[in-house]
Amino acid sequence: MIAVVSIGALERPLIDGVVEFVGDYYSRFGISVEFVGEVPEEPFSVAFNPLRGQYLGRIFLPTLSALGEKLNAIAVLGITELDLYEEGLNFIFGLANPSLRSAIVSIHRLKNEFYGLEPDDELLLKRAIKEAMHELGHVFGLGHCPNPRCVMHFSNSLYDTDVKGSLYCPVCEEKLETNLRKLGVSP
Ligand SMILES: [Zn+2]
Ligand SMILES: [Zn+2]
Repeated sequence: MIAVVSIGALERPLIDGVVEFVGDYYSRFGISVEFVGEVPEEPFSVAFNPLRGQYLGRIFLPTLSALGEKLNAIAVLGITELDLYEEGLNFIFGLANPSLRSAIVSIHRLKNEFYGLEPDDELLLKRAIKEAMHELGHVFGLGHCPNPRCVMHFSNSLYDTDVKGSLYCPVCEEKLETNLRKLGVSP
Protein backbone atom coordinates (compact mmCIF):
# COMPACT_ATOMS: atom_id res chain seq x y z
CA MET A 1 0.00 0.00 0.00
CA ILE A 2 1.14 3.54 -0.81
CA ALA A 3 -0.14 5.79 1.98
CA VAL A 4 -1.20 9.32 1.10
CA VAL A 5 -1.19 11.83 3.95
CA SER A 6 -2.45 15.37 3.96
CA ILE A 7 -0.23 17.74 5.92
CA GLY A 8 -2.75 20.29 7.17
CA ALA A 9 -6.28 20.44 5.82
CA LEU A 10 -6.54 20.06 2.07
CA GLU A 11 -9.60 19.90 -0.15
CA ARG A 12 -10.87 16.37 -0.32
CA PRO A 13 -11.66 16.38 -4.08
CA LEU A 14 -7.98 17.17 -4.72
CA ILE A 15 -6.69 14.40 -2.44
CA ASP A 16 -9.28 11.93 -3.76
CA GLY A 17 -8.39 12.80 -7.36
CA VAL A 18 -4.68 12.14 -6.75
CA VAL A 19 -5.40 8.90 -4.85
CA GLU A 20 -7.69 7.68 -7.62
CA PHE A 21 -5.25 8.36 -10.45
CA VAL A 22 -2.14 7.07 -8.71
CA GLY A 23 -4.09 4.10 -7.34
CA ASP A 24 -5.38 3.25 -10.78
CA TYR A 25 -1.84 3.31 -12.16
CA TYR A 26 -0.10 1.39 -9.38
CA SER A 27 -2.82 -1.27 -9.28
CA ARG A 28 -1.02 -2.90 -12.24
CA PHE A 29 1.76 -3.78 -9.76
CA GLY A 30 -0.74 -4.97 -7.19
CA ILE A 31 -0.12 -1.87 -5.05
CA SER A 32 -3.10 -0.01 -3.60
CA VAL A 33 -3.08 3.69 -2.81
CA GLU A 34 -4.96 4.88 0.24
CA PHE A 35 -5.66 8.22 1.87
CA VAL A 36 -4.77 7.57 5.52
CA GLY A 37 -5.70 10.95 6.95
CA GLU A 38 -4.40 14.31 7.98
CA VAL A 39 -1.42 15.24 10.14
CA PRO A 40 -1.11 18.76 11.57
CA GLU A 41 1.30 21.31 10.05
CA GLU A 42 2.38 22.59 13.45
CA PRO A 43 5.11 19.99 14.29
CA PHE A 44 6.83 20.95 11.02
CA SER A 45 7.34 24.55 12.16
CA VAL A 46 11.00 23.52 12.75
CA ALA A 47 11.31 23.40 8.95
CA PHE A 48 10.20 27.03 8.60
CA ASN A 49 12.80 29.51 7.42
CA PRO A 50 11.52 32.99 8.39
CA LEU A 51 13.94 34.76 6.04
CA ARG A 52 12.47 32.90 3.08
CA GLY A 53 8.94 32.40 4.35
CA GLN A 54 9.29 28.78 3.20
CA TYR A 55 9.72 25.30 4.66
CA LEU A 56 12.77 23.10 4.16
CA GLY A 57 11.39 20.08 2.32
CA ARG A 58 13.67 17.36 3.64
CA ILE A 59 12.56 17.91 7.26
CA PHE A 60 9.18 16.36 6.42
CA LEU A 61 10.47 13.07 5.04
CA PRO A 62 11.61 11.17 8.17
CA THR A 63 8.28 11.87 9.91
CA LEU A 64 6.36 10.62 6.87
CA SER A 65 8.66 7.61 6.73
CA ALA A 66 7.97 6.73 10.38
CA LEU A 67 4.26 6.96 9.71
CA GLY A 68 4.67 4.64 6.73
CA GLU A 69 6.49 2.08 8.84
CA LYS A 70 3.68 2.13 11.38
CA LEU A 71 1.16 1.54 8.60
CA ASN A 72 3.34 -1.09 6.95
CA ALA A 73 3.19 0.95 3.73
CA ILE A 74 5.65 0.46 0.87
CA ALA A 75 5.83 4.25 0.51
CA VAL A 76 4.30 7.42 1.93
CA LEU A 77 3.34 10.50 -0.01
CA GLY A 78 2.62 13.71 1.88
CA ILE A 79 0.67 16.51 0.22
CA THR A 80 0.90 20.01 1.62
CA GLU A 81 -0.11 23.54 0.87
CA LEU A 82 3.09 24.85 2.53
CA ASP A 83 5.68 26.47 0.25
CA LEU A 84 8.77 24.24 0.16
CA TYR A 85 12.42 24.86 -0.71
CA GLU A 86 15.76 23.11 -0.69
CA GLU A 87 19.17 24.71 -0.28
CA GLY A 88 20.33 26.14 -3.62
CA LEU A 89 16.79 26.22 -5.04
CA ASN A 90 14.23 29.02 -4.90
CA PHE A 91 11.45 26.54 -4.41
CA ILE A 92 10.57 22.90 -5.02
CA PHE A 93 7.30 21.34 -6.22
CA GLY A 94 8.24 18.20 -4.34
CA LEU A 95 10.96 16.00 -2.92
CA ALA A 96 11.56 12.30 -2.43
CA ASN A 97 13.96 10.03 -0.57
CA PRO A 98 14.15 6.43 -1.84
CA SER A 99 15.88 5.10 1.30
CA LEU A 100 13.18 6.63 3.50
CA ARG A 101 10.48 5.53 1.03
CA SER A 102 8.79 8.87 1.47
CA ALA A 103 7.97 11.87 -0.67
CA ILE A 104 6.25 15.20 -0.36
CA VAL A 105 4.43 17.36 -2.90
CA SER A 106 3.53 21.01 -2.37
CA ILE A 107 0.54 22.42 -4.18
CA HIS A 108 1.51 25.98 -3.19
CA ARG A 109 3.03 26.84 -6.56
CA LEU A 110 0.77 24.52 -8.54
CA LYS A 111 -2.14 26.88 -7.95
CA ASN A 112 -2.99 29.47 -10.58
CA GLU A 113 -3.66 31.93 -7.75
CA PHE A 114 0.03 31.95 -6.86
CA TYR A 115 0.68 33.54 -10.27
CA GLY A 116 -2.23 36.00 -10.02
CA LEU A 117 -4.46 33.90 -12.29
CA GLU A 118 -8.01 32.63 -11.82
CA PRO A 119 -8.28 29.43 -9.75
CA ASP A 120 -8.65 26.28 -11.85
CA ASP A 121 -9.37 23.15 -9.79
CA GLU A 122 -9.17 20.80 -12.75
CA LEU A 123 -5.75 22.11 -13.79
CA LEU A 124 -4.56 22.02 -10.17
CA LEU A 125 -5.56 18.36 -9.91
CA LYS A 126 -3.71 17.52 -13.14
CA ARG A 127 -0.58 19.22 -11.85
CA ALA A 128 -0.82 17.55 -8.44
CA ILE A 129 -1.19 14.13 -10.11
CA LYS A 130 1.94 14.72 -12.20
CA GLU A 131 3.98 15.81 -9.19
CA ALA A 132 2.72 12.85 -7.15
CA MET A 133 3.60 10.36 -9.91
CA HIS A 134 7.00 12.08 -10.33
CA GLU A 135 7.98 11.97 -6.66
CA LEU A 136 6.77 8.37 -6.28
CA GLY A 137 8.92 7.50 -9.30
CA HIS A 138 11.91 8.90 -7.37
CA VAL A 139 10.88 6.93 -4.25
CA PHE A 140 11.08 3.78 -6.36
CA GLY A 141 14.50 4.63 -7.75
CA LEU A 142 13.77 6.48 -10.99
CA GLY A 143 15.90 9.45 -12.00
CA HIS A 144 15.01 12.31 -14.30
CA CYS A 145 14.08 11.41 -17.87
CA PRO A 146 15.13 13.33 -20.99
CA ASN A 147 11.72 12.68 -22.61
CA PRO A 148 9.78 15.96 -22.12
CA ARG A 149 6.44 14.08 -22.20
CA CYS A 150 7.47 11.62 -19.50
CA VAL A 151 6.25 12.37 -15.98
CA MET A 152 9.85 11.82 -14.77
CA HIS A 153 11.04 14.82 -16.83
CA PHE A 154 12.40 17.51 -14.53
CA SER A 155 10.04 20.46 -14.02
CA ASN A 156 11.97 23.68 -13.76
CA SER A 157 8.76 25.64 -13.97
CA LEU A 158 5.03 25.10 -14.08
CA TYR A 159 5.29 25.27 -17.86
CA ASP A 160 7.33 22.03 -17.85
CA THR A 161 4.76 20.42 -15.57
CA ASP A 162 1.91 21.43 -17.88
CA VAL A 163 3.72 20.17 -20.99
CA LYS A 164 4.58 16.72 -19.66
CA GLY A 165 2.16 13.82 -19.40
CA SER A 166 0.95 12.09 -16.23
CA LEU A 167 2.54 8.72 -16.99
CA TYR A 168 6.00 7.16 -17.07
CA CYS A 169 7.46 6.67 -20.56
CA PRO A 170 8.11 3.02 -21.61
CA VAL A 171 11.78 3.25 -20.55
CA CYS A 172 10.93 4.57 -17.07
CA GLU A 173 8.04 2.16 -16.69
CA GLU A 174 10.29 -0.80 -17.37
CA LYS A 175 12.81 0.48 -14.82
CA LEU A 176 10.00 1.00 -12.32
CA GLU A 177 8.79 -2.54 -12.78
CA THR A 178 12.33 -3.91 -12.26
CA ASN A 179 12.83 -1.77 -9.14
CA LEU A 180 9.49 -2.80 -7.67
CA ARG A 181 10.30 -6.44 -8.30
CA LYS A 182 13.56 -5.94 -6.37
CA LEU A 183 11.44 -4.62 -3.51
CA GLY A 184 9.46 -7.83 -3.59
CA VAL A 185 6.47 -6.40 -5.40
CA SER A 186 5.08 -8.46 -8.24
CA PRO A 187 1.83 -7.90 -10.09
ZN1 LIG B 1 12.47 15.04 -9.82
ZN1 LIG C 1 10.81 8.50 -18.86
